[in-house]
Amino acid sequence: MTDIKIDPKGLVPSPVAAKELRDKAVYGEPIPVADGVDVVVADNIKDYTGPGTNTYLVGTDRLWVIDPGPADTAHIDAVVSAVDGRPVQGILVTHNHLDHSPAAAPLSDRLDAPVYGYGGLPEELHNQSDEDIDPDFVPHKALMGGETVGKGRWRLRVLHTPGHFPNHLCYQLPEAGIVFSGDHVMGWSTTVIVPPLGNLADYMDSLDLLARTGAVRLMPSHGDPVDNALSRIEEVRVHRMMRQTQVEECLHRGMANPADIVDALYDGLTPRLLRAAQGCVEAHIEFYTSRRALAERAHTGAAKTERPDFNTRTPSRYT
Ligand SMILES: [Zn+2]
Repeated sequence: MTDIKIDPKGLVPSPVAAKELRDKAVYGEPIPVADGVDVVVADNIKDYTGPGTNTYLVGTDRLWVIDPGPADTAHIDAVVSAVDGRPVQGILVTHNHLDHSPAAAPLSDRLDAPVYGYGGLPEELHNQSDEDIDPDFVPHKALMGGETVGKGRWRLRVLHTPGHFPNHLCYQLPEAGIVFSGDHVMGWSTTVIVPPLGNLADYMDSLDLLARTGAVRLMPSHGDPVDNALSRIEEVRVHRMMRQTQVEECLHRGMANPADIVDALYDGLTPRLLRAAQGCVEAHIEFYTSRRALAERAHTGAAKTERPDFNTRTPSRYT
């Protein structure tokens, strides 16, 4: 595992940091990260995946597999080998971005285990976004925020944490003070929030939800475990609000075009990361606009304009 820290620009790693992440990563074998928790890292390093996707094995006799990862044969083989013939009670998916869910179906077949998750998004919502979405993701069992799965020491509480993506779930292991935090909060970088599927207001609410768990450690889907969970959550909140202030200052100076705001705020940005930076600025503008509309409604008593319901989902196979 690595100790790369957040990029000072706060959005994505520099190419140099990405190379360093790859050089230090260990792929293809289970690495113990807590009592009864191992991680197998997929070799799918990209701009937003840190050293790769973390697939966690949780438990001793009967396992949970959390975030199966990309449809990469070497990674799937490595997870099956790490399970080592132990029964798997479920494969839990945090969300259906392409670096998280495509291995769920092949692992389900090979491990004879059901897939759990919030559910895929309806196709018309995929079409509104250019994000890397796994369109085929359908869990065997759809989960709701607040429910629990399993029993005893390895019981997991489900947290619905939209913001990065509408169907994002975190999984809390209350006995150990651990939350498997997916892409919601990571140690190595801030998460990408790109409208219309990403939403900053939802993201801030989901940060509150995560903080209320009182988690001690976060196990994110990319990068190392985070030991000081609550201070990291606070750090992310402060970072977001700092960026919000910067974007609002640009708006007040008369800059309306997100590309111009990116130019002003992201000095020396690699061109291929421009779209993500622009999406991030759009999320901050949307946050500003929605808060202003809220304040105006409070003043005038006007009716609320509904956002499209991004939390609808495709049904699971059995429920
Ligand atoms: Zn993601």
